[in-house]
Formats: sequence, C-alpha cells, structure tokens
Amino acid sequence: MNPLIIGNWKCNPCDSKKTEKLFSEIKKGLPKKLKAKLVICPPFIYLKDLTGRGLEIGAQDCFFQDGPFTGQISVSMLKSLGCKYVIVGHSEKRAAGEKDKIINLKLKSCLEKRLVPILCIGETLKQRKSNQTSKILRRQLEKDLKGIVKKDIESIVIAYEPVWAIGTGKACDPEIAKVVKMMIKKYLRELYKTDKVKIIYGGSVDAKNALEYAEAGMEGYIIGGMSLKPKEFIAILNNFC
Ligand code: PEP
Repeated sequence: MNPLIIGNWKCNPCDSKKTEKLFSEIKKGLPKKLKAKLVICPPFIYLKDLTGRGLEIGAQDCFFQDGPFTGQISVSMLKSLGCKYVIVGHSEKRAAGEKDKIINLKLKSCLEKRLVPILCIGETLKQRKSNQTSKILRRQLEKDLKGIVKKDIESIVIAYEPVWAIGTGKACDPEIAKVVKMMIKKYLRELYKTDKVKIIYGGSVDAKNALEYAEAGMEGYIIGGMSLKPKEFIAILNNFC
C-alpha cells in the first residue's frame, strides 16, 4: 500500500512570502510518479492560501468545539477550508501541557466531522531507558482512544513518534520502530479486533533512512525538519516512485 507522508512545518515559515516559496518549490519538485499520499501541514495562518492548489493540506492541531474559546481553531473551521487531515497530540503540544483527555476530545471531534486524525504517541528518552516504552504507549493509547468505537478506529492514523528522535537527528532504529508497531497492532487487535489501522513513523526521517522504515513495515511518515528543505524533502519522496 502507498505510504502516507505528512510534512509537518511546525511554526515555520515566518511569513507568507517564504511560505509561498517553500510550497511552490515542493510542488514543482514533486516526482511525477509519486506512489505516496502526501499531506502538507502548515501553520493555521497559511491554510487558506494553500488549500485547493493541488497538494493535500492538513492542520497541525485542532480544537474540539466551536464557541467561546479564545484563540482556538475548531475542526469545523478546518473542514470548511478543505482540510482532510489533522495532527493530534504531537509531543510538542503534550510537552506544552496538552493532556490525554483533551487529545481524546479532539480525536472524537475529528471523527464526528470526518477529518482524519493523525494521533501521535511516543516515549521520552528517560522512559525508554527505564524500559517503560510499552507501558507509556499503552497508557497513551488507552486514554487517547477512550470511548472510540470499532467503526471509527480504522479512520485514525497512529504515528509512533519517539520524543527523543524528534528534531534531534537521532532517528529511531527501524527495528525498534518495528517492535513498537507490532505492539500497537497487538493492542488494537485485542481491543478492536482489527488489523487495519495505519501506523506511521516520525522522528528525524531523511532521504537516507526513509526506506528503512518502509522495509520495517511502517506505513508512512511524519517529516518535520526535512519538510522545510525542498531538496531534501523531494529526495525523500523520490524513494517512493
Ligand atoms: C515531527 O515534527 O513530528 C517530526 C517528526 O520532526 P522531525 O522530522 O524534525 O524529527
């Protein structure tokens, strides 16, 4: 199956001109025979300018309700702009205080409004070193997916993003990612009796290591830093022609 490739621009670029340049360079350089589903996730402020221009556009976060919630951007708003994908529970949001309860509400809102949520889970280096990876990931899944029913689970994409690999240049060994993927699959099989949830990987992916994750069975990627560098990003995409 074709991989799902999410370009997470995080809090970049810093103005519209640079955004336009990045977007058009990526668009121009796209391999003609790309066998992957590509989704670019820019900051909210650029979503309107970039949707409907030939690349799938997603958001980096969402809020689960419309109404008196100053500063928030709801799932309905994203949907009205034509977004189909939303990153939920990124470790940078969790580090800033986002709790599993809120992540759970965001997932439910995405499912209700039919946006595809990309749920990020992952352990810190300290947790990995103290052999807590499996416990931490299980706990995140349990809390984040609470109350989500079988008919919806296959609409969620789960991204394994070890916190220690994000933006550090220290990518996770593909064999470790493979073990984690199997653990997530086992959990979902136990809970939902399904094997159909897409599991992707994020954390210092580059053109050299990208294929190793596909070989290890990962079904796609979240790419942060390298999605801001058109040449490097295109080099990653060229692996999937
Ligand atoms: C991310 O932002 O989710 C990410 C994986 O970043 P990077 O590719 O820079 O590690």
